[in-house]
Amino acid sequence: VPEFDLIELIRSRCLALRDDVVLGIGDDCAILEPAPGHELLVSTDTLVEGVHFLPDSDPWALGWKALAVNLSDLAAMGAEPAWALLSLTLPCADAAFVTAFADGFGRLAAEHRVALVGGDITSGPLAVGVVVQGFAPRGTALRRSGARAGDAVYVTGTLGDGLAGLRCLQATAGSALAHASAEAREAVIGRVTRPTPQLAAGRVLRGLASACIDTSDGILADLGHVARRSGVGIEVLASSLPASPALCALYAGDERLAVQAGGGDDYQLAFTASPERETEIVRRLAAVECAVARIGRVVEGRGVRLLDDGGAEIVLEHRGWEHFA
Ligand code: ADP
Ligand code: MG
Repeated sequence: VPEFDLIELIRSRCLALRDDVVLGIGDDCAILEPAPGHELLVSTDTLVEGVHFLPDSDPWALGWKALAVNLSDLAAMGAEPAWALLSLTLPCADAAFVTAFADGFGRLAAEHRVALVGGDITSGPLAVGVVVQGFAPRGTALRRSGARAGDAVYVTGTLGDGLAGLRCLQATAGSALAHASAEAREAVIGRVTRPTPQLAAGRVLRGLASACIDTSDGILADLGHVARRSGVGIEVLASSLPASPALCALYAGDERLAVQAGGGDDYQLAFTASPERETEIVRRLAAVECAVARIGRVVEGRGVRLLDDGGAEIVLEHRGWEHFA
């Protein structure tokens, strides 16, 4: 299939109509018109076969996830998503693959009114690079750097499903996971192959959270970024980390804690806020159907410590995902 036809396959499946796209796919550049009074937020994330997703992954889910992980970064800063660019590196011009991929990408794009305005196709080992752009009213975007001692620490949704899902995908026939409840396995696999970016929650948190980050590397590692950028320490209470019913069906005790605290790929929002705002935060997140749990507190000092109910530190073997580690 010629490259031009592949571009047309993608274009026809990602047709979000937006007034702020003056010129979309087809020319050398897209022409976009940012909304007055807003700041532009830009981010990019790449998924590489064998590093970020398993070989022979479902192309529809891959298209969805490639956009989802990028939208999660906009969510973390409270931005309204608007535009995306897509760089595809493909081992061969496989029209069926590209069609399914673009359907998955386009489905999530449509849900959030994201217009795909351009991109690139090259040949090589399978990789997907996405650029997303969004808006926030001037001065309102959430950052990692605003946490202050005395703030409480919160996380949306549940933790650990991403890693549990990956382990279920990789489970060999004889392993304990392969024999666990099919319903629980499917639930966590859905969370890792088709994550939900918390865009509505991020927007709600503008003006309420003092700092925010999305949980892509594992809660302790991600809160480590907040602590460093904010110049504070963070204490996380292990027993308060939220777990899904599926995770509880698959793991118990220390094993579950390790998955919750050290697992990546959850795409929830971890944020800090003055405890005085808690009632309002809970109410406004509930209004967008987002669950939230208080998991710790910001203290003076540095670093992130995981504590048991008696206040003793729990030291985990793996604190999160790191490239080149
Ligand atoms: P150029 O050679 O000038 O970079 P291309 O021939 O690569 O242009 O692309 C033609 C048009 O198709 C451009 O508008 C480009 O943004 C768009 N495009 C190319 N690949 C993709 C893709 N994977 N997804 C979306 N748009 C794409
Ligand atoms: Mg050109």
